Amino acid sequence: MQIQSVGVVGAGQMGNGIAHVLALAGYDVLLTDISDDALKAAVELIDRNLERQVSREKISAEDKDAAMARIRKTPTLTDLGKCDLIIEAATERETVKQAIFEDLVPHLQPHTILTSNTSSISITRLASRTDRPEKFMGFHFMNPVPVMQLVELIRGIATDEPTYKACLAVVEKLGKTAASAEDFPAFIVNRILMPMINEAVYTLYEGVGSVKSIDESLKLGANHPMGPLELADFIGLDTCLAIMNVLHDGLADTKYRPCPLLTKYVEAGWLGRKTQRGFYDYRGETPVPTR
Ligand code: NAD
Repeated sequence: MQIQSVGVVGAGQMGNGIAHVLALAGYDVLLTDISDDALKAAVELIDRNLERQVSREKISAEDKDAAMARIRKTPTLTDLGKCDLIIEAATERETVKQAIFEDLVPHLQPHTILTSNTSSISITRLASRTDRPEKFMGFHFMNPVPVMQLVELIRGIATDEPTYKACLAVVEKLGKTAASAEDFPAFIVNRILMPMINEAVYTLYEGVGSVKSIDESLKLGANHPMGPLELADFIGLDTCLAIMNVLHDGLADTKYRPCPLLTKYVEAGWLGRKTQRGFYDYRGETPVPTR
Protein backbone atom coordinates (compact mmCIF):
# COMPACT_ATOMS: atom_id res chain seq x y z
CA MET A 1 0.00 0.00 0.00
CA GLN A 2 1.04 3.59 -0.67
CA ILE A 3 1.60 5.71 2.43
CA GLN A 4 1.19 9.49 2.10
CA SER A 5 -0.05 10.77 5.45
CA VAL A 6 1.62 9.94 8.77
CA GLY A 7 0.33 10.74 12.25
CA VAL A 8 2.95 11.15 14.99
CA VAL A 9 1.84 10.82 18.63
CA GLY A 10 4.15 12.53 21.13
CA ALA A 11 6.16 15.62 20.21
CA GLY A 12 9.11 15.10 22.56
CA GLN A 13 12.73 14.44 21.58
CA MET A 14 11.80 11.58 19.26
CA GLY A 15 8.44 12.78 17.93
CA ASN A 16 9.82 16.08 16.68
CA GLY A 17 12.74 14.34 14.94
CA ILE A 18 10.39 11.79 13.35
CA ALA A 19 8.06 14.56 12.08
CA HIS A 20 11.13 16.43 10.74
CA VAL A 21 12.48 13.55 8.61
CA LEU A 22 9.04 12.46 7.39
CA ALA A 23 8.11 15.97 6.22
CA LEU A 24 11.47 16.41 4.50
CA ALA A 25 10.94 13.13 2.64
CA GLY A 26 7.57 14.35 1.32
CA TYR A 27 5.03 12.84 3.75
CA ASP A 28 2.12 14.85 5.13
CA VAL A 29 2.59 14.85 8.89
CA LEU A 30 0.00 15.36 11.62
CA LEU A 31 1.66 15.78 15.03
CA THR A 32 -0.06 15.59 18.42
CA ASP A 33 0.89 15.69 22.12
CA ILE A 34 -1.06 15.92 25.37
CA SER A 35 1.04 18.96 26.21
CA ASP A 36 0.29 22.07 24.12
CA ASP A 37 3.66 23.48 25.16
CA ALA A 38 5.48 20.38 23.90
CA LEU A 39 3.60 20.59 20.61
CA LYS A 40 4.43 24.25 20.13
CA ALA A 41 8.07 23.75 21.15
CA ALA A 42 8.42 20.79 18.76
CA VAL A 43 7.33 22.76 15.69
CA GLU A 44 9.68 25.62 16.64
CA LEU A 45 12.53 23.15 17.10
CA ILE A 46 11.86 21.47 13.75
CA ASP A 47 11.98 24.92 12.13
CA ARG A 48 15.34 25.68 13.80
CA ASN A 49 16.81 22.28 12.93
CA LEU A 50 15.73 22.57 9.29
CA GLU A 51 17.21 26.09 9.19
CA ARG A 52 20.51 24.66 10.42
CA GLN A 53 20.42 22.14 7.55
CA VAL A 54 19.83 25.02 5.10
CA SER A 55 22.78 27.00 6.51
CA ARG A 56 24.99 23.91 6.15
CA GLU A 57 23.77 23.56 2.55
CA LYS A 58 22.39 20.05 3.21
CA ILE A 59 18.94 21.16 1.97
CA SER A 60 17.66 24.23 0.08
CA ALA A 61 15.47 26.96 1.57
CA GLU A 62 12.65 25.68 -0.70
CA ASP A 63 13.05 22.15 0.78
CA LYS A 64 12.71 23.63 4.26
CA ASP A 65 9.62 25.67 3.40
CA ALA A 66 7.98 22.67 1.71
CA ALA A 67 8.74 20.44 4.74
CA MET A 68 7.33 22.99 7.20
CA ALA A 69 4.20 23.33 5.05
CA ARG A 70 3.65 19.55 5.29
CA ILE A 71 3.61 19.55 9.12
CA ARG A 72 0.30 20.22 10.86
CA LYS A 73 -0.33 19.96 14.59
CA THR A 74 -3.48 19.03 16.49
CA PRO A 75 -4.24 18.74 20.21
CA THR A 76 -6.81 16.01 19.40
CA LEU A 77 -5.37 12.50 19.19
CA THR A 78 -8.33 11.07 17.28
CA ASP A 79 -7.71 13.47 14.35
CA LEU A 80 -4.82 11.13 13.47
CA GLY A 81 -7.31 8.39 12.55
CA LYS A 82 -7.40 9.67 8.96
CA CYS A 83 -3.69 8.95 8.42
CA ASP A 84 -2.30 5.99 6.44
CA LEU A 85 0.36 5.30 9.08
CA ILE A 86 0.59 6.26 12.76
CA ILE A 87 3.88 6.32 14.64
CA GLU A 88 3.39 6.49 18.41
CA ALA A 89 6.35 8.17 20.15
CA ALA A 90 4.90 9.06 23.55
CA THR A 91 6.47 8.44 26.98
CA GLU A 92 8.00 4.97 27.48
CA ARG A 93 5.21 3.59 29.71
CA GLU A 94 3.02 0.70 28.61
CA THR A 95 -0.20 2.08 30.15
CA VAL A 96 0.31 5.39 28.31
CA LYS A 97 0.86 3.64 24.97
CA GLN A 98 -2.05 1.24 25.48
CA ALA A 99 -4.43 4.11 26.26
CA ILE A 100 -3.31 5.96 23.10
CA PHE A 101 -3.98 2.94 20.87
CA GLU A 102 -7.32 2.22 22.57
CA ASP A 103 -8.45 5.82 21.99
CA LEU A 104 -7.29 5.74 18.36
CA VAL A 105 -8.84 2.42 17.27
CA PRO A 106 -12.49 3.55 16.77
CA HIS A 107 -11.29 6.43 14.55
CA LEU A 108 -8.94 4.56 12.19
CA GLN A 109 -9.41 3.88 8.50
CA PRO A 110 -9.50 0.15 7.66
CA HIS A 111 -6.06 0.33 6.01
CA THR A 112 -4.27 2.40 8.69
CA ILE A 113 -1.03 0.85 9.94
CA LEU A 114 -0.25 1.35 13.65
CA THR A 115 3.35 1.46 14.86
CA SER A 116 5.20 2.27 18.06
CA ASN A 117 8.63 3.85 18.44
CA THR A 118 8.98 2.07 21.81
CA SER A 119 12.56 1.24 22.82
CA SER A 120 11.64 -1.94 24.64
CA ILE A 121 7.93 -2.72 25.18
CA SER A 122 6.41 -5.87 23.62
CA ILE A 123 4.99 -5.10 20.18
CA THR A 124 2.87 -8.26 20.33
CA ARG A 125 1.27 -7.17 23.61
CA LEU A 126 0.59 -3.60 22.40
CA ALA A 127 -0.84 -5.01 19.14
CA SER A 128 -3.11 -7.45 20.95
CA ARG A 129 -5.03 -4.55 22.52
CA THR A 130 -5.96 -3.15 19.09
CA ASP A 131 -8.39 -4.34 16.38
CA ARG A 132 -5.50 -4.94 13.93
CA PRO A 133 -2.54 -6.90 15.30
CA GLU A 134 -1.63 -7.88 11.70
CA LYS A 135 -1.25 -4.18 10.82
CA PHE A 136 0.84 -3.31 13.88
CA MET A 137 4.63 -3.16 14.21
CA GLY A 138 7.60 -1.61 15.98
CA PHE A 139 9.10 1.39 14.13
CA HIS A 140 12.12 2.24 16.24
CA PHE A 141 14.09 5.35 15.27
CA MET A 142 17.39 6.28 16.94
CA ASN A 143 18.15 9.62 18.59
CA PRO A 144 18.79 12.20 17.08
CA VAL A 145 16.45 11.08 14.31
CA PRO A 146 17.68 13.42 11.53
CA VAL A 147 21.27 12.21 12.07
CA MET A 148 21.05 8.50 12.87
CA GLN A 149 20.94 6.08 9.96
CA LEU A 150 19.25 3.07 11.58
CA VAL A 151 15.59 2.20 12.03
CA GLU A 152 14.74 -1.09 13.75
CA LEU A 153 11.59 -2.70 12.34
CA ILE A 154 10.02 -5.15 14.78
CA ARG A 155 7.31 -7.58 13.74
CA GLY A 156 4.86 -8.73 16.39
CA ILE A 157 3.77 -12.35 16.27
CA ALA A 158 0.77 -11.42 14.04
CA THR A 159 2.33 -8.72 11.81
CA ASP A 160 1.67 -9.50 8.14
CA GLU A 161 4.08 -9.14 5.23
CA PRO A 162 2.29 -6.20 3.47
CA THR A 163 2.57 -4.18 6.72
CA TYR A 164 6.29 -4.96 7.03
CA LYS A 165 6.89 -4.07 3.35
CA ALA A 166 4.93 -0.79 3.66
CA CYS A 167 7.04 0.24 6.69
CA LEU A 168 10.26 -0.83 4.96
CA ALA A 169 9.33 1.37 1.97
CA VAL A 170 8.93 4.34 4.35
CA VAL A 171 12.38 3.70 5.89
CA GLU A 172 13.90 3.54 2.40
CA LYS A 173 12.16 6.75 1.30
CA LEU A 174 13.68 8.45 4.36
CA GLY A 175 17.11 7.36 3.06
CA LYS A 176 17.66 5.29 6.21
CA THR A 177 18.59 1.64 6.73
CA ALA A 178 16.24 -0.87 8.36
CA ALA A 179 17.36 -3.67 10.67
CA SER A 180 14.78 -6.36 11.23
CA ALA A 181 14.47 -7.45 14.88
CA GLU A 182 12.37 -10.10 16.59
CA ASP A 183 9.93 -9.01 19.27
CA PHE A 184 11.83 -9.70 22.50
CA PRO A 185 12.47 -7.14 25.25
CA ALA A 186 14.43 -4.10 23.99
CA PHE A 187 14.96 -5.72 20.53
CA ILE A 188 18.58 -5.47 19.26
CA VAL A 189 20.08 -2.03 19.88
CA ASN A 190 18.84 -1.46 23.43
CA ARG A 191 19.29 -5.10 24.45
CA ILE A 192 23.01 -4.50 23.96
CA LEU A 193 23.35 -0.76 24.65
CA MET A 194 21.26 -0.40 27.85
CA PRO A 195 23.03 -3.05 29.96
CA MET A 196 26.30 -1.27 29.07
CA ILE A 197 24.89 2.08 30.23
CA ASN A 198 23.47 0.43 33.39
CA GLU A 199 26.91 -1.12 34.06
CA ALA A 200 28.51 2.31 33.68
CA VAL A 201 26.10 3.61 36.37
CA TYR A 202 27.07 0.63 38.62
CA THR A 203 30.73 1.51 38.00
CA LEU A 204 29.96 5.03 39.25
CA TYR A 205 27.77 3.74 42.14
CA GLU A 206 30.52 1.43 43.38
CA GLY A 207 33.11 4.22 43.19
CA VAL A 208 35.26 2.49 40.59
CA GLY A 209 35.40 5.72 38.61
CA SER A 210 33.99 9.24 38.47
CA VAL A 211 31.56 10.46 35.80
CA LYS A 212 34.50 12.03 33.97
CA SER A 213 36.81 9.02 34.18
CA ILE A 214 34.10 6.55 33.12
CA ASP A 215 33.12 8.60 30.07
CA GLU A 216 36.73 9.33 29.12
CA SER A 217 37.65 5.65 29.47
CA LEU A 218 35.01 4.51 27.00
CA LYS A 219 35.67 7.36 24.57
CA LEU A 220 39.45 6.98 24.50
CA GLY A 221 39.71 3.30 25.42
CA ALA A 222 36.91 1.80 23.35
CA ASN A 223 36.63 4.50 20.67
CA HIS A 224 33.00 5.34 21.52
CA PRO A 225 31.95 8.77 20.20
CA MET A 226 30.16 9.53 23.50
CA GLY A 227 30.76 8.23 27.02
CA PRO A 228 27.99 5.97 28.42
CA LEU A 229 26.87 8.48 31.08
CA GLU A 230 26.85 11.33 28.59
CA LEU A 231 24.81 9.07 26.29
CA ALA A 232 22.40 8.18 29.12
CA ASP A 233 21.78 11.91 29.71
CA PHE A 234 21.18 12.32 26.00
CA ILE A 235 18.66 9.47 25.83
CA GLY A 236 16.89 10.50 29.07
CA LEU A 237 17.45 8.69 32.38
CA ASP A 238 13.71 7.94 32.74
CA THR A 239 13.79 6.18 29.36
CA CYS A 240 16.98 4.27 30.33
CA LEU A 241 15.38 3.11 33.60
CA ALA A 242 12.14 2.13 31.84
CA ILE A 243 14.11 0.01 29.34
CA MET A 244 16.13 -1.70 32.11
CA ASN A 245 12.86 -2.53 33.91
CA VAL A 246 11.42 -4.05 30.73
CA LEU A 247 14.59 -6.17 30.29
CA HIS A 248 14.55 -7.19 33.97
CA ASP A 249 10.85 -8.08 34.01
CA GLY A 250 10.74 -9.58 30.53
CA LEU A 251 13.84 -11.78 30.72
CA ALA A 252 13.75 -12.44 34.49
CA ASP A 253 17.53 -12.37 34.75
CA THR A 254 19.26 -10.49 37.59
CA LYS A 255 21.96 -9.29 35.20
CA TYR A 256 19.40 -6.66 34.04
CA ARG A 257 18.78 -5.27 37.55
CA PRO A 258 18.57 -1.45 37.19
CA CYS A 259 21.30 0.29 39.21
CA PRO A 260 19.81 1.95 42.35
CA LEU A 261 21.76 5.11 41.48
CA LEU A 262 19.93 5.31 38.14
CA THR A 263 16.63 5.02 40.03
CA LYS A 264 17.73 7.75 42.43
CA TYR A 265 18.52 10.21 39.61
CA VAL A 266 15.09 9.54 38.07
CA GLU A 267 13.37 9.98 41.45
CA ALA A 268 15.13 13.33 41.80
CA GLY A 269 13.77 14.40 38.42
CA TRP A 270 17.34 14.63 37.13
CA LEU A 271 16.53 13.06 33.78
CA GLY A 272 19.51 14.27 31.74
CA ARG A 273 19.64 16.93 29.05
CA LYS A 274 15.87 17.32 28.80
CA THR A 275 15.68 18.58 32.40
CA GLN A 276 19.14 20.23 32.27
CA ARG A 277 20.55 17.90 34.91
CA GLY A 278 21.54 14.25 35.01
CA PHE A 279 25.02 12.77 35.32
CA TYR A 280 26.05 16.23 34.12
CA ASP A 281 24.64 19.66 34.97
CA TYR A 282 23.85 21.49 31.71
CA ARG A 283 22.75 24.81 33.17
CA GLY A 284 26.10 26.57 32.67
CA GLU A 285 28.31 27.14 29.62
CA THR A 286 29.82 23.66 29.70
CA PRO A 287 28.42 20.44 31.23
CA VAL A 288 29.70 19.82 34.79
CA PRO A 289 29.66 16.26 36.28
CA THR A 290 27.19 15.93 39.17
CA ARG A 291 29.30 13.26 40.94
P1 NAD B 1 10.09 12.60 25.69
O1 NAD B 1 9.89 12.57 27.15
O2 NAD B 1 11.06 13.58 25.10
O3 NAD B 1 8.69 12.85 24.93
C1 NAD B 1 7.52 12.13 25.18
C2 NAD B 1 6.34 13.01 24.78
O4 NAD B 1 5.14 12.21 24.85
C3 NAD B 1 6.14 14.21 25.71
O5 NAD B 1 6.12 15.41 24.95
C4 NAD B 1 4.78 13.93 26.37
O6 NAD B 1 4.03 15.11 26.62
C5 NAD B 1 4.12 13.07 25.30
N1 NAD B 1 3.01 12.26 25.79
C6 NAD B 1 2.90 11.58 26.96
N2 NAD B 1 1.71 10.97 27.05
C7 NAD B 1 1.05 11.26 25.90
C8 NAD B 1 -0.25 10.95 25.39
N3 NAD B 1 -1.10 10.20 26.10
N4 NAD B 1 -0.61 11.42 24.19
C9 NAD B 1 0.23 12.19 23.46
N5 NAD B 1 1.48 12.55 23.89
C10 NAD B 1 1.86 12.09 25.09
O7 NAD B 1 10.47 11.11 25.27
P2 NAD B 1 11.25 10.61 23.97
O8 NAD B 1 12.70 10.50 24.29
O9 NAD B 1 10.81 11.39 22.78
O10 NAD B 1 10.70 9.10 23.88
C11 NAD B 1 9.47 8.82 23.24
C12 NAD B 1 9.46 7.36 22.82
O11 NAD B 1 10.56 7.11 21.93
C13 NAD B 1 9.60 6.36 23.97
O12 NAD B 1 8.83 5.23 23.69
C14 NAD B 1 11.09 6.03 23.94
O13 NAD B 1 11.39 4.78 24.46
C15 NAD B 1 11.35 6.04 22.44
N6 NAD B 1 12.75 6.26 22.04
C16 NAD B 1 13.53 7.14 22.72
C17 NAD B 1 14.85 7.34 22.33
C18 NAD B 1 15.74 8.32 23.05
O14 NAD B 1 16.97 8.29 22.83
N7 NAD B 1 15.22 9.21 23.86
C19 NAD B 1 15.37 6.63 21.23
C20 NAD B 1 14.53 5.75 20.54
C21 NAD B 1 13.21 5.57 20.96
